[in-house]
Amino acid sequence: MWDVAADLVLGSVCAVCARPGRVLCPPCRAGLPRSGSPAWPTPAPPGLALPFAAGAYGGPLRALVNAHKERRAFALARPLGHVLAAVVIDLLHSVGPAEGVRVALVPVPSRRSVVRARGHDPLLRLTRHAAVRLRRQGRHAAVHRLLRPARTVRDQAGLDAGDRAANVAGSLRAARLARPGGPGGTGLVVVDDVLTTGATAREAQRALEEAGHTVLGIATVAATRRRSGPDQGRTSLPLSRICD
Ligand SMILES: [Zn+2]
Repeated sequence: MWDVAADLVLGSVCAVCARPGRVLCPPCRAGLPRSGSPAWPTPAPPGLALPFAAGAYGGPLRALVNAHKERRAFALARPLGHVLAAVVIDLLHSVGPAEGVRVALVPVPSRRSVVRARGHDPLLRLTRHAAVRLRRQGRHAAVHRLLRPARTVRDQAGLDAGDRAANVAGSLRAARLARPGGPGGTGLVVVDDVLTTGATAREAQRALEEAGHTVLGIATVAATRRRSGPDQGRTSLPLSRICD
């Protein structure tokens, strides 16, 4: 009952512009990004697979991710999943021939305590919508929950890049695909909602590669902009419309 009530309440205004009506009004929906670009954190963790994001973590993307995750606006999972699907497609095109490739979307697992507290797993929900979108576009795409926590980690909020890397090092373990291979092989794409320092994505990649998987890249809805560091200009996100 609470979920239904929350959806009804949240559904009374747009999560982006607060216009009364749907949880995402048609103009804001139409303005969502439909492509992905390289989104290297600065500094990037050594060996990080190619990270792609739809835009900077700000403005509409930030509002949608947070409303979906923290305020349980479940209706936003679908549009966010469509954004993620567009990022995956552009990532695949940038790493090689995308046609015929079986794509396994591997969400970074949320901490169990966080899922319990939120009462849902927002990343898993939007990843499933992304896979549906990709299949409707003729891709072989599926969600594979290959990653599991190997130990507990602290909340990453407030930690710098070095502390984040140390906090998550060795924190994940990966299972093997039940049926590896197939036409064109199976390529894994690690997915997350927001890329910050890349430490969590790198740990996910490490665990998957240790289990014998090939990670094609990292796909996220948004990436934080980091202004510090000598190579801050390395990001090539289209920042003009989506940030701040
Ligand atoms: Zn709106």
